Amino acid sequence: MTPRPRIAGEAPPPRPDALAPAPPAPADAPAARPRIAVERVTVRPDRLSALVRVAPGAPRRTDAALAERARAAFPDLPHHTCVNEAGPTFAAVMADTPLPHLLEHLVISLMLRDEATPACAAHVGTTEWLNEDEGLARVEVTYTDDIVALRALRRAAAFLNDEGRECARHAISTHHIRPDR
Ligand SMILES: [Zn+2]
Repeated sequence: MTPRPRIAGEAPPPRPDALAPAPPAPADAPAARPRIAVERVTVRPDRLSALVRVAPGAPRRTDAALAERARAAFPDLPHHTCVNEAGPTFAAVMADTPLPHLLEHLVISLMLRDEATPACAAHVGTTEWLNEDEGLARVEVTYTDDIVALRALRRAAAFLNDEGRECARHAISTHHIRPDR
């Protein structure tokens, strides 16, 4: 079986570990309306944990158009193993799934394509609503390098906030993004 990301759907038990302030979301798409904000990031020994919030007024779930943009920029996404109610891969739900779940898979895709990630790395992610009415969710992913994981989270949020236009191109063509931008 070829190595590919393994995504578990079960939410881990909440653990109020030490919380670190989140880096601000990238602002390299000034004309775009933000969809999602990363409010807080915790780097645990085994996983990155992010509190994310879907922007007020923004759709809580993906749609076919967003899924297609994501698929075009991240061709591996549909093939991610994903525990969901519709099928064995992310393809089964990616056109109608909570936006933070798409963020989770984008983070994993970005980590896998990062040249600092070992070739056979496998990452596991989970996404759970903490308060769906308020658009608040927790996204967690395992990582092999915390810097790579933080970079992937930042790029994934930027991709969603730019609806897959500018940031997709950056993500594909540029592996050395300045850490603070
Ligand atoms: Zn999934």
